Amino acid sequence: MTGLFVRVAVDQPMPVLFDYRYALPDAPAVGMLVQVPFGRREVVGLICEIAHSSDVPAEKLRAVTAVCDGCAPLSDAWIALAAFAADYYQRGLGEVALPALPQALRDASRWNRLFAVEPRYRLLPEGRAQLPDALPARASALRRLAEALAEQPSLALSDARALHPKASVTFDDWLARGWIETATTQTVEPDANAHVLPTGAAPLPILTDEQRDAVDAISGAQGFAPFLLHGVTGSGKTEVYLHALAVLLAARPDAQALVLVPEINLTPQFEAAFRARFSALADGSIVTMHSGLAEGERARNWLAAHTGSARIVLGTRLAILASMPQLAMIVVDEEHDPAYKQQEGLRYSARDLAIYRAKQLDIPVVLGSATPSLETWWQAEQGRYTRLTLTRRAVAEAALPAVKLIDLEEERRRGRASVEGLAGPLIAALKTRVERGEQSLVFLNRRGYAPILSCDACGWVAGCPRCSAYAVLHKPERALRCHHCGWESRIPKSCPDCGNIDIAPMGRGTQRVEETLASVVPGARVLRIDADSTRRKGSAQALFSDVHAGEVDILVGTQMIAKGHDFRRVTLVGVLNADTALFSHDFRASERLFAQLTQVSGRAGRAGLPGEVMIQTRYPRHALYQALSRQDYVGFANSTLAERRDARLPPFVYQAMLRAEGRTLEAALKFLEDAAAAFAPLPGADRVTVYDAVPLTIVKVFNVHRAQLLLESASRAALQASLRAWQPALRSLKGVLRWNVEVDPLDV
Ligand code: ADP
Ligand code: ZN
Ligand code: ZN
Repeated sequence: MTGLFVRVAVDQPMPVLFDYRYALPDAPAVGMLVQVPFGRREVVGLICEIAHSSDVPAEKLRAVTAVCDGCAPLSDAWIALAAFAADYYQRGLGEVALPALPQALRDASRWNRLFAVEPRYRLLPEGRAQLPDALPARASALRRLAEALAEQPSLALSDARALHPKASVTFDDWLARGWIETATTQTVEPDANAHVLPTGAAPLPILTDEQRDAVDAISGAQGFAPFLLHGVTGSGKTEVYLHALAVLLAARPDAQALVLVPEINLTPQFEAAFRARFSALADGSIVTMHSGLAEGERARNWLAAHTGSARIVLGTRLAILASMPQLAMIVVDEEHDPAYKQQEGLRYSARDLAIYRAKQLDIPVVLGSATPSLETWWQAEQGRYTRLTLTRRAVAEAALPAVKLIDLEEERRRGRASVEGLAGPLIAALKTRVERGEQSLVFLNRRGYAPILSCDACGWVAGCPRCSAYAVLHKPERALRCHHCGWESRIPKSCPDCGNIDIAPMGRGTQRVEETLASVVPGARVLRIDADSTRRKGSAQALFSDVHAGEVDILVGTQMIAKGHDFRRVTLVGVLNADTALFSHDFRASERLFAQLTQVSGRAGRAGLPGEVMIQTRYPRHALYQALSRQDYVGFANSTLAERRDARLPPFVYQAMLRAEGRTLEAALKFLEDAAAAFAPLPGADRVTVYDAVPLTIVKVFNVHRAQLLLESASRAALQASLRAWQPALRSLKGVLRWNVEVDPLDV
């Protein structure tokens, strides 16, 4: 059939494009979003090809129902990036491209509103002078409006309505009085003379020689240039990013940069630093992108990146797929962080995609870390990434903290008291800090009160009825909670099996340590930060500001407190319960532990006062702790790499994991065994090893049984090719609820 046709990617688990007739007045273009009928629904899709004939029989061809003409087409480069990710992670293009767009764009009914030019209002000098006195004293909503106008260069009507429902009427009145004016455009054209460096605010720190060398190397790079910025904690990696970005943005008035951080909680700290430094850029030049944004804001920020008005996009892993037509540099801070790996849906690594994107666009990419992932370290060792090293802390007086190992066996042998799992020397050190008015941080990676609630008389242990896991005791919430499926119940008063009322918590979580600290360090203001204490939106931010404001003496928490925060008054870090990770069956456990402990240790002594780290352990002679106490990442990395090479583990081999979820474990295992039988190595390609199907450690979650099958090859290309060839066989297998293939899995 001939005519005008478009081939459209839609969010369906099928690696194909769908043909549609095109008969709308606007000419179609590759990269445009369209609304198309799909089955009985209308969905949004992406035009990937335009054609003048179609092999689909005429009676089966349906027509495009709408085109999103307000949104400039996505670029070929962006589509190529999505196509690469789809291919690499064994998905369909639409499954990658569409979820990467903000929700508002994926709903055609919202296009009109999204692209309608929203009125904005700006305060005039007369208004600034007269408004405060003109408002009735009790008109608090009006006052909020006036304050918002005074604080921002211009205010959008929708934001104003959120402050005052009748904002529109009020603005008409204020317009008539000459207090405000309309400001239709928010996006200011990039100003060729824009001064990117600050105009007099805080003075720029003078870079250390090491920082200067790093900035010069990055700024002098031509084309694709991957850098590993390996800098000890507190060495001022952020300052290196800021300077390198300043050079770039000043040199090219249209250039855009993407800065990734691992955690949503770190974006405000970064955002503040970036806004302060680049205050001379036009309004709206810095936008954030993470899952915590409201939908409207997410869409606005995405569009700002897409139109090029945003010069810097600061975001979490999902921002790696932002559309940025003038992208000229990518920064991945704390590149080793497992949070860069998406763990559901499209299981991508934002760090790895950053490398690909930089290569595709021929631009520099900077991976920063105090403890690079061994994958990255190995690339640097081979000379594929340029290594830039910051060996010292940036603040002249700040030395790296001294790491001390508290031998718990020795404490016990000598009969020295430890209270509820806190060793004597740690308690004493905490007390000293409180007396001196310094802050301490106590880290353990387990939330809740106690991981186990059990009965001494009959051996009953509280478990989740839906999972093969213990239920965790949460004391403040008076609940037993399953950390895997969210199941919750009240704490039983007696043993449900034998009636014994002496059921007791075993082990320690953050809540219990918080309770203990309050009693062993009297008078200390103890604050807990973990997923439970920060459930409400914005509460993490509020808690962190209490710490920065000095309203806390001892901060207890999980890895949430370990990452990136620049706590200026913390001089002591205590680490509890780290030993469990030493004996994990996961070969990456020690790498993660080393990184985590380095990160948390790095919170101590950042601003001149000497820092100290105390790690409680039963294995003080373990090589990991020894390397940690010497602050010897390089030694640790090289010896761990040597072990990996001997054991033929990543980064020396490439892995993929097929996971299946069934109503029974037998069903899941059978699926994997059938899949393994259907796996055919490609002729002539390198060997791909298929291991036995095994149940996951926590085999049952929410009544679903889980098992996995590992594939491995020394050749990435061979693995990729055989995974691709395997897909049709996998799709034809039945008998499980779900299955997925994960390429480069982190948890093996
Ligand atoms: P990292 O990310 O490497 O752990 P940060 O970027 O958080 O380190 O920097 C640590 C501290 O050092 C920050 O408070 C920062 O403002 C400060 N700093 C960075 N570079 C300099 C410098 N050249 N001179 C003075 N202070 C600096
Ligand atoms: Zn019992
Ligand atoms: Zn559960």
